[in-house]
Amino acid sequence: MKLSVVIPLFNEEAVIATTHTAVTETLGGLIGKRLIDDYEIVFVDDGSHDRSLEILRKLAGESPKVKVISFSRNFGHQRALAAGILHSSGDAVVSLDADLQDPPELIGEMLEKCRQGNDVVYAVRRTREKDTMFKRLTARFFYRMMQIMGVDLIYDHADYRLISKKVVAAFRKIGETNIFLRGIFPYLGFDHEIVYYERQGRFAGATKYPLRKMMAFAWEGITSFSNVPLRLASLVGLTIFVTSLCLVSWAFYEKFAGRTIPGWTSTVIPLFFIGGLNILFLGLIGEYVGKIYLEVKRRPLFFVKEMHNLEDLPPRG
Ligand code: UDP
Ligand code: MG
Repeated sequence: MKLSVVIPLFNEEAVIATTHTAVTETLGGLIGKRLIDDYEIVFVDDGSHDRSLEILRKLAGESPKVKVISFSRNFGHQRALAAGILHSSGDAVVSLDADLQDPPELIGEMLEKCRQGNDVVYAVRRTREKDTMFKRLTARFFYRMMQIMGVDLIYDHADYRLISKKVVAAFRKIGETNIFLRGIFPYLGFDHEIVYYERQGRFAGATKYPLRKMMAFAWEGITSFSNVPLRLASLVGLTIFVTSLCLVSWAFYEKFAGRTIPGWTSTVIPLFFIGGLNILFLGLIGEYVGKIYLEVKRRPLFFVKEMHNLEDLPPRG
């Protein structure tokens, strides 16, 4: 049994070496316990502009177990993860963050669950004590929203998970560009199990997820998995239509009752109101049309700048 560990990173020069050592030690221990026979560590450099790639080149030179993919620019965490998973060759693949917030020691337990026949093992943080109040609130709001929108998500699960070769094969068949992994794996199905852990603080460096990226990520999640906003548009449209019908009959009633005073307000206000809503929801529909546009073009998820100890893959699909 060979295990692949996928680590996406963006400007993480401060943590790579430590993370590499910690992960290698853990994997060595797993070999000692005969839980695995072999492993590879796939680092995906998501277009870093610090010394990250330099450090990775060195690590790859020292050990053939270290594989490196380096993107031509920053394509985002999700695509970096996807690249690592698609290029992995193990019987199971674990993805974890470069900053050791996902403790590698948990991999043993995840493998155990995998052995018991689960093709997906989600590692879920027990608490959010280490997070700022703001992050806690926005995260809760995010998972709630997703639930309301009907997106199948594991509550508080980030991207620390184990998937089997079978799931990787299924994942290869997904050809979409707007990729939201937290939704994709529950969508793929297969038997799954959850393990809990205490999430540590980042041990060095700063977060690579500023508010802007967080919001883009949440929006991606909603629009690539849910058509509830679109349905909401038609629902509101219908309500307004029915209301306007009532208003029309009321206007006729008033007219035949001989009480009509030709009103400017009653003409202009609905005009503005309905016109405004029209534009609002046209915009929302445009969002989805934009997505369809991107999917139809079938752009590649990423472009690889260089690879070490790895060969390029045939196209997806
Ligand atoms: N990351 C990435 N590309 C990006 C942003 C982040 O590959 O554009 C990586 C980052 O290096 C880290 C992981 O994604 O390994 C999680 O990011 P981070 O720890 O900054 O997020 P946080 O834990 O603060 O939510
Ligand atoms: Mg982190």
